[in-house]
Amino acid sequence: MSEATRSLNFIEHIIEDDLAAGFPKGGLRFRFPPEPNGYLHIGHASSICLNFGLGLRYQAPVNLRFDDTNPTKEEQEYVDAIKADVEWLGFRWDRECYASDYFGRLYQWAVDLIRLGKAYVDSQPSEEIARQKGTPTEPGTNSPFRARSVDENLLLFQEMKTGKHPEGTHVLRAKIDMASPNMLMRDPVMYRILHKAHHRTNTDWCIYPMYDWTHGESDYIEQISHSLCTLEFKPHRELYDWFLDQVAEAGKVRPKQREFARRNLSHTVVSKRKLLQLVNQGVVHGWDDPRMPTISGLRRRGCPPEAIRTFADTIGIAKRDNVVDVSLLEFHMREHLNKTAPRVMAVLDPVKVVVLNYPEGESEWVEAENNPEDPGAGFRKVPFSRELYIEREDFREEANRKYFRLKLGGEVRLKNAYIITAEHVVKDARGEIVEVHCTYDPKSLSGSGTEESLKKVKGTLHWVSVAHAMEAEVRLYDRLFSDPVPDQHKDRDFLEFVNPDSLQTVKAFLEPGLSEAKSGEQFQFQRLGYFCVDPDTTPAKLVFNRTVPLRDTWAKVEQQAE
Ligand code: ATP
Ligand code: MG
Repeated sequence: MSEATRSLNFIEHIIEDDLAAGFPKGGLRFRFPPEPNGYLHIGHASSICLNFGLGLRYQAPVNLRFDDTNPTKEEQEYVDAIKADVEWLGFRWDRECYASDYFGRLYQWAVDLIRLGKAYVDSQPSEEIARQKGTPTEPGTNSPFRARSVDENLLLFQEMKTGKHPEGTHVLRAKIDMASPNMLMRDPVMYRILHKAHHRTNTDWCIYPMYDWTHGESDYIEQISHSLCTLEFKPHRELYDWFLDQVAEAGKVRPKQREFARRNLSHTVVSKRKLLQLVNQGVVHGWDDPRMPTISGLRRRGCPPEAIRTFADTIGIAKRDNVVDVSLLEFHMREHLNKTAPRVMAVLDPVKVVVLNYPEGESEWVEAENNPEDPGAGFRKVPFSRELYIEREDFREEANRKYFRLKLGGEVRLKNAYIITAEHVVKDARGEIVEVHCTYDPKSLSGSGTEESLKKVKGTLHWVSVAHAMEAEVRLYDRLFSDPVPDQHKDRDFLEFVNPDSLQTVKAFLEPGLSEAKSGEQFQFQRLGYFCVDPDTTPAKLVFNRTVPLRDTWAKVEQQAE
C-alpha cells in the first residue's frame, strides 16, 4: 500500500476537517516531543512516523521539542541519542526546541495568573494536598491557602524562584475547581521547588514547571496546530485547554490536542523506565544492546530504518492500546534486506567435508551472484578446494526420502560449485562425526553450461573452503522475553519473563571476501539469515550480529503450543 493510496487515518480526518472549515494549510505545524530521560524505542517510532509523516503529507514543518522539565532524570546524553535516532530514521525537523527555553515566558504567564487570582501558592505538604484531592465520586477540599492575597502569592512565588525555600515547602497551583468531575482540574500543581541543576539551564532555576503547564504553552509558543499525544493524556485535554484559555491571544493559532493509542510490541517492553531497569541490572549490555527494542538497539542489530518506517505505516495509528507482534517488524526487516543485502556464505556450526577426488593442494575460484534480487549487484569469486565446511545439521548418515540435504550415498549441490556424493564418515573416539568423505563430479560446476551442471539435484548447501575461511564471532539473538506481554501480568514482575537464552555466541567460518567488512554492513548468510557487522569488530576480530533468521522460527513454536 503506497502512502498516496492508503485511506486517511483518523488524525488526518481531523486535519482535513479543520482545513475544510477554513484553517489555512500554511498554518499546519507539528512536533515530536520526547522527554530526554532515556533512549527512544519502537513505540516512539510510531509517534515519530506519525508526526513527521504528517509533515511530509501536508508539507508542514515539524519541530523536535525536548520536554525537559524534570532535571532529576534528564541528561544531555539522551538529547544527543534522540537526535541521532530521529535522523537515522530518515526525518528532518524544522526547529530544535527545548521546553526549558520557555521557562522565562512560562514564569511571566504564571505571575499574570497570580495577579488575576487564578493561581496561588499552597504551603501544605504534598501528602496533605493529595488527601484533599477527593475521589472521582467525592469533591475535593479547598486548601486553607487558596484564599491567599495576590501580594502574598507574588512574594512567595518570587521567593520560591530565587531559592529561598527548601524543596517540598510550597507549590504554585492553578485555582480552578476542587469539585470538578475531572480530578486533574482540581487545582493542579503548576510549579514545584527543586534545587537541582538542569542539563541546559544549570542552576538558573529553583522551580520547575509541571508537564501540563508546560506542554500546551510550549505548543502555543511554537504555534503547533495539532499536538498529538498518547491516550493516557485524554483526561488532560480539559486542562490543556484551560491553560491555553489563560494565555492564547486572538489571531494566533490555537493548538489542538488529539490522542492516539500507544503501540506496544510483543515479547518486549516499551517503557523507558523498564528499559532503564534492564540496562541498570545488567540484563542487557546497554541501551543499544541488539536485543533492546530501542531505536539504537534495532540499528545495531541491523534493522534498516526503512523497515521501521514501513512497519509503523503498516500498523498505522489506532484509538485503542494494542500489542503488535514482533514478527511483523521482522517481516519488514526481511522484506527490505532481501532486496539490499549481498549474499555470502558462512558456516556457523561446521563439519568438515573432504572431497576425495579433488586434487590435494589445489583450489579454484568459482563465480557467485551477489544478489539475485538486484541485477546490478554483480558477481564475486569464492574459493573452492578439497576441504570444506558445511553445517553440521546439513549432514546425516541416514535419513528418509524427505531429507534433501547430504546423507551417505546421496548427492547435493554445493552452492555456486559442484555436485558431491557422500561416501563415508570418519568419527572420533566419542563417536562424533569429524569428517564426511565425498566425491565430486568435475563436470557439474554451476554455470559451466555442461549437461552435468544443469542436472537437477534436490538439495543445495552453503559451504566455505577450510583453507581460505575467515573466522568470526557471530552473536545469535533471540527474543529478550519468552512471554508475549511480559509487563502485563498481575502480581508478576516483567523481569521474571526474561529469556535466559536470548544471546548465543558462536565461532563461525566465512568466505574470505568478508575480511574487509565494515561496521554496520549487512549481508545475507545464505540459508541462515541476515547479519550485520557489529561495532565491536576490530582488525583482528570480526563480530557479526544476526538481525533476523531467514524464516520465522517462533511461528512454528507458537503453533505447536496451541
Ligand atoms: P515512556 O513510557 O517509554 O517513557 P513516554 O510517553 O513517557 O514513554 P516521551 O518521551 O514522553 O515518552 O514520549 C514522546 C512522544 O512519544 C509522546 O508524544 C508519546 O506519547 C509518544 N510515545 C511514547 N511511547 C509510545 C508508544 N509506545 N506508542 C506510541 N507513541 C508513544
Ligand atoms: Mg513521558
